[in-house]
Amino acid sequence: MKPSFYDLNYSDLERVLNQNNLNGSAAAVLFNWHYKKKEKAQCYENIAKDSVAFFQNNFDFSLPEIDTVHESKDRTVKFLFKLKDSYKIETVLIPFHNKYSLCLSSQVGCAMNCSFCFTGKQGFKRNLTTNEIVGQFLQAWRWLAKNRLGEERILNIVFMGQGEPLHNFDAVKKACEIFLSQHGASIGVQKITISTAGYMPGLKRWSQEIPGVNLALSLHSPFAEKRNELIPINVKYPLGEVLAYIDKIPLNKKQFITYEYILIKDFNDSSDDAKQLGMILAGKRAYINLIPFNSFPGSDYKCPDVDKIEKFKEVLDTFKIPTLIRGAKGDDVLAACGQLNSKI
Ligand code: SAH
Repeated sequence: MKPSFYDLNYSDLERVLNQNNLNGSAAAVLFNWHYKKKEKAQCYENIAKDSVAFFQNNFDFSLPEIDTVHESKDRTVKFLFKLKDSYKIETVLIPFHNKYSLCLSSQVGCAMNCSFCFTGKQGFKRNLTTNEIVGQFLQAWRWLAKNRLGEERILNIVFMGQGEPLHNFDAVKKACEIFLSQHGASIGVQKITISTAGYMPGLKRWSQEIPGVNLALSLHSPFAEKRNELIPINVKYPLGEVLAYIDKIPLNKKQFITYEYILIKDFNDSSDDAKQLGMILAGKRAYINLIPFNSFPGSDYKCPDVDKIEKFKEVLDTFKIPTLIRGAKGDDVLAACGQLNSKI
């Protein structure tokens, strides 16, 4: 099988051209055509014919196949993609003011086994390759260009779909490099967010290898016992260690760490929980995203009432931490956080 073109970051592409005695300047043209123009206009005439023939003969340009598309009433779009080995993954386009955030998957299933997450219930199947991650972006973009003409603007990329992105670090890192490249999609570094359950080995690599890309930590409880129950890797990588590590990472001026907190009825939604959360995050460069629990088939957890959610936020406000209550998008098509499970 031919290697995928979409596995190559910019320097890989230059290397391939050089190794094959082809003109290195074709790299910029190829990246621009595939990731910026997204193949809208024919531009191969700008590159030497032998480079074109070389890539056409030696590389694979296929993308994950769109299996189904669900459009929610709020214009959220959920894609189910079929991969070459028939595994399926989901990708979600989340609208805001005629632009979109794209929520990408990084693995088929997930090894973290979080008790509140539908994806975790599938178990871990395999890591996605870089081309499968980049392919979700290109296919979502093409779908927008075809179905919502004039709205094909993906401004943010969040790794909050299926999988633990820091557990598939190499492929996620290379996909980020491709998204960031100024010769291609040129997505701003502050516009990419990697969300993690607190997988320390990946966190250490993130801080050194892709600084500038934003980090979101799924916190969900400041208390060890509760967090162990929600996020089993907390036993191996306890929250205290994760937070201490994050504190040492130099952030640029505009950078914040996002702390995600799922609110589960009568489990982690009391004023005590909020106070303790406020205490451990006070004084940090932190945003808190409160995510009311999204239910899925077979789950015992429930979402708290609106009053309780607002009360929780009020307590956090006293600690002067910017806090947002995240509205569920796309939950009528099971596209909201934690509802992604490719089996249905
Ligand atoms: N593995 C990564 C990214 C995937 S989940 C992580 O753990 O951060 C993206 C966000 O959705 C996380 O904050 C996750 O905790 C949250 N989430 C998962 N299941 C959910 C559910 N049922 N309701 C609400 N949010 C959920």
